[in-house]
Amino acid sequence: MKREILLLGNPVLRQKCKPVTEFDSIQLRRIVADLRDTLHDFRKRNGFGRGIAAPQIGVTQRIVFIHIVEPLAIINPTIIRRSKRLFSLWDDCFSFPNLLVKVKRHYSIEIRYQNEMGVKKTLKASGALSELLQHEIDHLNGVLAIDRAVDSRSILYRSEWEKFEARGQKQDE
Ligand SMILES: [Zn+2]
Repeated sequence: MKREILLLGNPVLRQKCKPVTEFDSIQLRRIVADLRDTLHDFRKRNGFGRGIAAPQIGVTQRIVFIHIVEPLAIINPTIIRRSKRLFSLWDDCFSFPNLLVKVKRHYSIEIRYQNEMGVKKTLKASGALSELLQHEIDHLNGVLAIDRAVDSRSILYRSEWEKFEARGQKQDE
C-alpha cells in the first residue's frame, strides 16, 4: 500500500531507528511492501527515485528498500568497509523533493545486512549504488542529505539547479 512520505521538518525523520528483531513476519512483509509501493508510486509521479527508508513512511525501524536494477529489501544494514576515495554528487530525497544538495560520499563501501527471512548477507557497492546506500543508511540514524552539504552554497532548488547546474553534474536518476 502506498504511504504518505514524511517531509523535512517532521521530527520522525530525526529519530534513530530500532533494529528489526522478528523476521519472516506479516508485519515485516507489510512494511517492505509499503516501501516498495511508495517508492514505485513516487518514481512514476516524479521521474526519479531509487531508494526509500522506513522512517520516511513513519516506521522507525532499520529497513531500507532500493530499486535500481532489481528490487531489494535491506534490513539492519551496517557499513563494514568504506573506501578512502570520496566523490561528490548532487543528491536528492523524497523528503525534500524540490531541493538538490551537493554531498561527498565514499566511492565504494561494503555493508552487512539481513534479508526478510533474517539471513545475513554482505554487499559490495561502488558509485551510484554506494552513494544510494549511504544516503538510505543515514536515514536510519536520523541523518539527512542536507546535513552533509559540502558548504552553504550546496543546497539549491531543483528548478534553479536544472537551469544552472544540471549539465553533466548529476550522477544518474
Ligand atoms: Zn532520502
